[in-house]
Amino acid sequence: MKREAMLAVAADPGRHWDLLVIGGGATGLGIALDAAARGHAVLLAERDDFAKGTSSRSTKLIHGGVRYLQQGQLALVVEALEERGRLCRNAPHLVHRRAFIVPSYAWWESPFYGIGLKLYDLLAGRHGFAPSRHLSRKEVIAALPGIATAGLSGGTRYIDGQFDDARLAVALAQTAAAKGATLVNYCPVVAVRKADGKVCGAVLRDAESGTEFAVTAQVVINATGPFCDAVRRLDNPQAAPLIAPSQGTHLVLPRRFLPGDSALLVPRTADGRIIFIIPWQDRVLVGTTDTPVDQATPEPRAQAAEIDFLLTTANRYLASPISRDDILSVFTGIRPLVSGDGATAGLSREHTLLVDPQSGLLSIAGGKWTTYRRMAEQAVDLAQRLGRLPAEPCPTADLPIVAASVAEPSPPLHPGLPLTAGEVRRACREEMARRVEDVLARRSAYLLLDAAAAINIAPAVAGLMAEELGRDAAWVEREVAAFTALAAGYLPPAAGKMA
Ligand SMILES: Cc1cc2nc3c(=O)[nH]c(=O)nc-3n(C[C@H](O)[C@H](O)[C@H](O)COP(=O)(O)OP(=O)(O)OC[C@H]3O[C@@H](n4cnc5c(N)ncnc54)[C@H](O)[C@@H]3O)c2cc1C
Repeated sequence: MKREAMLAVAADPGRHWDLLVIGGGATGLGIALDAAARGHAVLLAERDDFAKGTSSRSTKLIHGGVRYLQQGQLALVVEALEERGRLCRNAPHLVHRRAFIVPSYAWWESPFYGIGLKLYDLLAGRHGFAPSRHLSRKEVIAALPGIATAGLSGGTRYIDGQFDDARLAVALAQTAAAKGATLVNYCPVVAVRKADGKVCGAVLRDAESGTEFAVTAQVVINATGPFCDAVRRLDNPQAAPLIAPSQGTHLVLPRRFLPGDSALLVPRTADGRIIFIIPWQDRVLVGTTDTPVDQATPEPRAQAAEIDFLLTTANRYLASPISRDDILSVFTGIRPLVSGDGATAGLSREHTLLVDPQSGLLSIAGGKWTTYRRMAEQAVDLAQRLGRLPAEPCPTADLPIVAASVAEPSPPLHPGLPLTAGEVRRACREEMARRVEDVLARRSAYLLLDAAAAINIAPAVAGLMAEELGRDAAWVEREVAAFTALAAGYLPPAAGKMA
């Protein structure tokens, strides 16, 4: 994928698109792939980088959702488990199995969680990975070295999926491009165009040059996740809010706190949530929280109380106490929850498709990464009817998602981060990386794995990118400064200095 070529096609005034997709996260990319694979002419415009929003800030699980099981959302669990199976088949290079253990510290916990997880097995049906099973205290300690053992009586083990969210996003973009879609990052939609009151296109801005251009499309799909209402207001300034944004924070720790291969599921926290402590890329990921926020921002920040809550909860379950100084990175994402009454932890993760009765703008929000393909299928089915496009069937259930090409072999740029020059060059040449942040936060996840090391490596990455993209020394300087400022927000804040 080359941005220059994509942009030239996008800005061609002679083109009329079947679909314009606004937003390049899981939802928008899934839709672009689905529509292109059905043979429609698709343009996707992303304001920042692909997966810059929530889609690179997830807990990295492809799962039915034990939490939704607890909430009784069985249809959602069944659908997600089915999609989990499909994704494992279609993108085996990006999704893998991970064992999760629910430890028991009270007599009733093993039978209680054991029965719940048997239901999870049952709902997975033929898509199941392996049956859940009871573990003795000894087996739990062997599988979870690092767990607090005082009062531990045993546990229940089940298997779920783990994935690389931002890499899956890039792979979806590449697969969509291979099917003929045009996708442009750093290209916000700044206005919606209408004819006779109906949405018929949009104005896009190339954020690199500042140039604006108009495009026309049969159907415009707003897939901007937590930013959905801002785009709806471009169409109708009076549109009532659809999204109740809620943020979730994760801490990343050194692997020594949980050195085994299994993850730990804390089934009930002080605020009635589930918390995961998961081995992730030679680190440990702890998350997440559910904190209502007033509005979505592109770089959400963890609140002090969220970090304290995650530390306190993890410390109840881990043998070695974690302090704030142990945190390698803190990252936060915003859930595009569709609003309703009550606390956000109780709102449905199910998605909503909404067609504006006047303008015909199709908005899609909510859902989970795990169910992106199903969401895309429904959105494109509806778009075909709205835009009177040929009613093509959805071909994505068994469609393989492309794997990254092999990067030129070269030594790692940093002793703590295995990123190589070859991978940086590949990101520029084939994956439309434009900024240092794109390489360090999404083509690789090093900003999320170790923010201080990512800052150290930024000048080397900027130098390589400048060679690839034909940029000068001033660009390198600006990029390093911008990345350093951004990455400071992922460093564990000192006590008393947090937002
Ligand atoms: C903390 C947390 C943990 C999660 N963990 C999991 C998990 O483990 N498993 C799971 O299945 N799901 C998980 N989810 C849910 C999942 O991550 C989201 O449902 C999914 O990423 C939403 O994708 P999206 O494309 O709708 O939104 P986004 O990824 O936010 O994409 C929207 C995009 O629209 C772009 N945009 C905004 N305005 C414009 C504009 N004017 N023009 C062009 N583009 C624009 C933004 O830049 C953004 O890239 C989690 C969510 C959160 C918050």
